[in-house]
Amino acid sequence: MNYMVGFISLNVYALIVCLLLMTVFFSKKRQKQVEDQSYAHFLIFNALATASGIVLGILVTPSFNTSEFILEIANKIYLICLMCWSCILNYYTMYISFLNKRKDRKKVLSLYKKIILVAIFILVILPVQIEATDSGAQATGASLVFFYTFLAAGFLSDFISILTDFKNITSKKYLPIYLLLVLGLFSVSVQLVFPQLNYLVNPCTVLITLVMYFTIENPDIKIIEQLNIAKDQAEKANRAKSDFLSNMSHEIRTPLNAVVGFSEAILEENDIEQIKSDAKDIIMASNNLLEIVNGILDISKIEADKMEIVETEYDLVENLNGLAKLMIPRIGEKPIELRTKFAPDIPSILYGDGGKIKQIVMNILTNAVKYTERGLINLEVNCVNSGSECKLVISVEDTGRGIKPEKIDSIFNKFERLEEDRNTTLEGTGLGLAITKRLVEMMGGKIVVQSKYGAGSKFTVYLKQEIRAVHTNVKREITYDKLVDISNRKVLVVDDNKINLKVATRMLTPYHLNIEECESGLECIDKIKEGRSYDLILLDDMMPKMTGTEALKELEKIPDFHTPVVVLTANAIEGMKEKYLKEGFKDYLAKPIDKLELERILYTYLAYKEKKEEIFEPLPEDLYDINKPLHQDTN
Ligand code: ADP
Repeated sequence: MNYMVGFISLNVYALIVCLLLMTVFFSKKRQKQVEDQSYAHFLIFNALATASGIVLGILVTPSFNTSEFILEIANKIYLICLMCWSCILNYYTMYISFLNKRKDRKKVLSLYKKIILVAIFILVILPVQIEATDSGAQATGASLVFFYTFLAAGFLSDFISILTDFKNITSKKYLPIYLLLVLGLFSVSVQLVFPQLNYLVNPCTVLITLVMYFTIENPDIKIIEQLNIAKDQAEKANRAKSDFLSNMSHEIRTPLNAVVGFSEAILEENDIEQIKSDAKDIIMASNNLLEIVNGILDISKIEADKMEIVETEYDLVENLNGLAKLMIPRIGEKPIELRTKFAPDIPSILYGDGGKIKQIVMNILTNAVKYTERGLINLEVNCVNSGSECKLVISVEDTGRGIKPEKIDSIFNKFERLEEDRNTTLEGTGLGLAITKRLVEMMGGKIVVQSKYGAGSKFTVYLKQEIRAVHTNVKREITYDKLVDISNRKVLVVDDNKINLKVATRMLTPYHLNIEECESGLECIDKIKEGRSYDLILLDDMMPKMTGTEALKELEKIPDFHTPVVVLTANAIEGMKEKYLKEGFKDYLAKPIDKLELERILYTYLAYKEKKEEIFEPLPEDLYDINKPLHQDTN
C-alpha cells in the first residue's frame, strides 16, 4: 500500500511538471512546423496518459472497491493514451530522420493514422485483468501483451528511422530517442523484477518530454534559429545588391558616356564620314546598353526564381540558321568563316523552350565572334534520338584568343570579364555566360568549355527536348525574299510617344514606304473605319486610354479588316512574344527596334502581297447594260 501512495505521488509530480511544460509551451509563439505540431500532441497525450495513470492507480486501491468493468475501462484509456504518445514519438522520429525529405509524407501520415486506429481497436477488444495487491496494481491479459508488442515495434521503428539517417546519428535531435531507449530498458527491467511496479512509465515519459523541450523543441531556440537564418539571408542579399548596384553603375555609365560624348561630337562635326563613324559608335554603345538591360532583367529573374520555361513547338534548325545569319553583320570585316553543320537526324519539330535555346546559342556565338580575330567559327548540332526524347549536343568552336586554364571556371560568374585590358574595345557585360549557364541548368542540361589559350575555345551544350515531328522535308529557309519591291506599301505606325514615332519613321525611311503616323489606338481605329487601308500596322501596346491589345480587339471587329498588325513594344521580357501572338498580333517587334528584325517583318508582310494597284479608272456600272448603245451621244 505504501508503494502505491509513493508511486501515485511520483505520477502527480510528473503530471504537475507536464502541465507546467504545457503552459510554457502553449503560451509561447510557435511555428507551424511538423515538429512543433507533433510536440504539441506529444505533450497533450503525455498529460492524458499521466492523469489517466493516476486515476487508475487511485481506482485500483482496495479501499475504493471499484468494479472490474470500470477498472478495465480505466486501464484501457490509460493504455490508449500511452500508445498514442508512443506513436507520436514514432512519427516524430520518422519525420526528423527521413520523412521531411519526402514529398509523399502526407500519405505516410494518413497511413500511420489508420494503423493507430486499428491498433486502438484491437487494444479495446482484447481482454485485460487488473488486480490490486498490497504492493501495487498488476495488470495481465492479451490486451497488455498486444500493447507491449506494439510499443516494442515502435522502438524498433525509431531505431530503423535513425539508421536511415546514419550520418547524423550523433545529432542532438535524436537525444530524446536515445533517452527513451535507456529509460524504456530501465522501466522494463524494473517491471520484470517487480511486476507490480508499472507506475514508473509515466514519470519516464514526462522526463523524455522535458528533455525534448530543453534540447530541440524549445520554441525560443527555434525562433532564434529561424531568425539567425533569416538574418544571414538578408545580409547576403544586401551584400549581393550592393555589389550589383556598384557593378551596374559602372557598366551603365561606360556606354552612356560613349553615347553622350559621340552625340556631342556629332553636333560640332561637319565631316560626314566622321559623323557616320561617330554614329556607328553610338549604335554600338546603345546595343551594349541594351544588352546590359536585358542581362539585368534576365539575371534578376533567374535569381528571383521567376524565369519560366515557356514550352512550345519549334524548328531548331530554322532557329539556329536564322541566328547564324544574324552573326554575319557582327563579324563585319574580320576574316572569319562562319560554318554551320546540322546533323540530318535532328527532328523537324521539337517541343521545349526553343526561345531559351536560341538565347543560349546566341550568347555563345556572340562571344565566339567577339573574341575571335580571324579563322573559323563552327556551329555544330548533333542529336541522339530515343523514343520521343531528343538529346541535343550543340557546340560552338572558334579559333579565337582562348581562355587561360585557371580562368575557365570563373567565366560563368556574374560580371566576370577576363583580361579587361584586352577587352577595352569589345563591348560586354560579363553577364552573358552567367545567364547562359543558368538557363542551361534550368532546362536540366549542362554546358562544358574546352579552351586553349591563344588557340581557341569550344563551348558544348547538352540538352534534352521532346520530339514532336521527325520528317526532314520542312522548309528551313528564312521566309522572306528581299528581291521583291516593297516600296510605296502603306504602313501605319501607332505610338503615343512622339520620339518613338520619329525613330520608327526614321528607321522605315530607307525602304521608301508610304508611312502614316498616329498617336493613339482610337485614332488608328478611326482611320480604318474611315475606309483607309494599309498593308501593315505597327501598333504600340502600352498607350494611355486604350492599349494596343485593346485597339487590336476593336480593329478585329471591323468587317473586312485583314491588315496584319504587328505589336511594337518595349515590353520585351521573356514570354511576351508568345503572349502577344496569342492576343492576335501577327508578329512582335521589340523596342529599341532591331534593324534586322524590322527588315524581316517588312519583307515577311509586305513582300508577298500582290500589288493590286488599278491602272485604269473603273468603268461606269451601266456599261454592262447590253441594251445601251456603246457611245452615248451627249449632244
Ligand atoms: P562578356 O559580356 O564580357 O562577353 P560573358 O559572360 O559572355 O561576358 O563572358 C565572360 C568572359 O569570358 C569574357 O569577358 C571573355 O573574357 C571570356 N570568354 C567568353 N567566351 C569566350 C570565347 N569564345 N573565347 C575567349 N574568351 C571568351
